[in-house]
Parts: sequence; structure tokens; C-alpha cells
Amino acid sequence: MQWMLTEVGVLTQRPSKPGPKQLADGWVRLKVHYCGICRTDAKMWHQGHRDLMLPRVPGHEIVAVDAADRPVVLWPGTACGTCRYCRAERENLCDHMQIMGFHFDGGFSHDLIAPAASLIPIPAAMPPHLACLAEPVGCVLNALEQIRLRPTERLLIVGGGTLGLIAALAAQDLKAKPIVIERRPEKIHKASPFLKCAQLTCLPAPPREPFDAAINACPDPAALQQAITLLVRGGRCAFFSGLAPTPPLGNSEINLLHYKELTVIGAYGLTRRHMAAALALIGRYPAELNLLVESILPPETLPELLPQVLAGGAFKYILDYTGRHGC
Ligand SMILES: [Zn+2]
Ligand SMILES: [Zn+2]
Repeated sequence: MQWMLTEVGVLTQRPSKPGPKQLADGWVRLKVHYCGICRTDAKMWHQGHRDLMLPRVPGHEIVAVDAADRPVVLWPGTACGTCRYCRAERENLCDHMQIMGFHFDGGFSHDLIAPAASLIPIPAAMPPHLACLAEPVGCVLNALEQIRLRPTERLLIVGGGTLGLIAALAAQDLKAKPIVIERRPEKIHKASPFLKCAQLTCLPAPPREPFDAAINACPDPAALQQAITLLVRGGRCAFFSGLAPTPPLGNSEINLLHYKELTVIGAYGLTRRHMAAALALIGRYPAELNLLVESILPPETLPELLPQVLAGGAFKYILDYTGRHGC
């Protein structure tokens, strides 16, 4: 069984079609075991996406097994390996980037075909469903690398959803001092078991002292504005979450880039190296990260989960294709 997005807003269930009998060179057939639901999946269902080509099986946070039953995660890109970005180890910016679940079929399916070069083995000791977090964790690692976060630096994370909390954990792992700002009290409350387990702080409003670095972890333009405003002179901000279209960022914030000599650096997606580093991070914090798994549910539940994922109140939902996590 697989879910096919035939047009924006229309998800249809159909029998799995694991690709043609004869696969193209370098492609392999895999069985999906778990697939995380990303906010981007909910957005593309609700309003489409710049990189989405329909009809499409979405899903890019995939744990699968290969023909020898080895568990793997899938780097969701395919890069050419020869363009200037690939040669500079920035394969996520490849001139010929094709993304699983956007340009070709992804993981909301029992089976899929994928480039063999995208497979990254999962360490045997790791609960396999947790490896669905390798893609979001890897995107966070890319953002922290873009701002060159160093030990002891104060990092402001604006937004206390799954990605903001992962960013705090990853920053603390780098021995930096992260603080998460979340203005919705119910989200701080929901995050409290994770915050306690990881010994992290989430506040409704920022403290007074300025921050060395910042990251916006929600699409509200006010989050990016706050991140920029609260930086020290010479501070660095990762522009991590794409912005909702309105209201636009004002000139007074943009002028701060000039007056304070700030650096704002975009971060989009991840490379295979980030994904491998993400698996290592997940291996160091399995108990903490397991608290960011909202629930593991059968694939049939996808249509009822998407509106909740879009609303942003839940942690990570994972679809289970193994039948092991039944109700
Ligand atoms: Zn994702
Ligand atoms: Zn390339």
C-alpha cells in the first residue's frame, strides 16, 4: 500500500508499485519499515511546494531494509557529484538536485526504489524507528555548522517545536549554551519531559543578555526578527525555517545587519555527512530523542495526522510499516 499525492489536497491510497522490473544502474529496491511525517509533507499536501512534482508518493524521513535485511536510513537527495557545489562538499545545493518525496517517490509506501549511494547503515544498537530523526537532526547539524557554533557560545533558538528542541540538544552536545524561546505556554509544557531529561531551558521570553548566535526554528517572520534583534554585534544567525509569506521582515531589522555587522546564513537540507553525524548524535541521546516521538502509528492514519502536523502542536509522528507498533 502507498499514499499518492495526486494533486494539492488530494491523497489517494493505492497498491504499492516498487518501480520497474529492471532498475536503472545504481538503484536498489528497499522495504520501508518506518517513515517520519515532516511539516514539509503536511505543507506540500496543503499548499504544494516549490520542489514538488505531482503525482508523488511523499515521505523523506525513511528507515528501510535492503535485500540482505540490513536497516538503513536514506539521504533524501540525489546529487550529480560533479557540479561546483558537489565538488565543494555542498551536495545539498547540487545543480541537479532531485529529492525523494518531491521529485521522485518517497517513503509513504511499503516499498520504494532509491539510489544505492543514498543508503546509510543504522548502528545495530539503535532502536530503528529513532533513525527516522536522522533527516531532521542532520538539517539542524547543517544549520549549526553554517553559523560555526563554538563551545561556550550562547545560542538563541526561537521556536520550541521538534526542530527547535533538537537544535538545543545538538548545540549542547557541542558544549555551547542554548536557550529555546517559545511563546506558547502549552508547547513549553509539552516539551517539559524532554527539557528535563536533556537538562535544557525553554523560556516564554528571552533573557536580557544578548546571544552570540541564533537560529529561527519556526516559520513566523517574528521569530527571525527576534533572532536578529537579540544578537551581539558581529553575531551570526542561521536562517533555518523558511518564512510564512506575511507579514514581511521590516527594514529596521534588516538595517541591524548593517549596524551590528551581523551575518545571516541560510541553511537548507543536509548532506550525507550531516546525516551520518546525525545518526551518531541520535546514538548518544536515544532516551532524550525518544521523548520527541509523538507516536508510532499504522500507515492508514496518514490523512488524519497531516492536519495535526500542519498545525504544529505535535512532536514527530512516525508511520510504521512493520506492523510491530499496532494499537
Ligand atoms: Zn523532513
Ligand atoms: Zn552536483
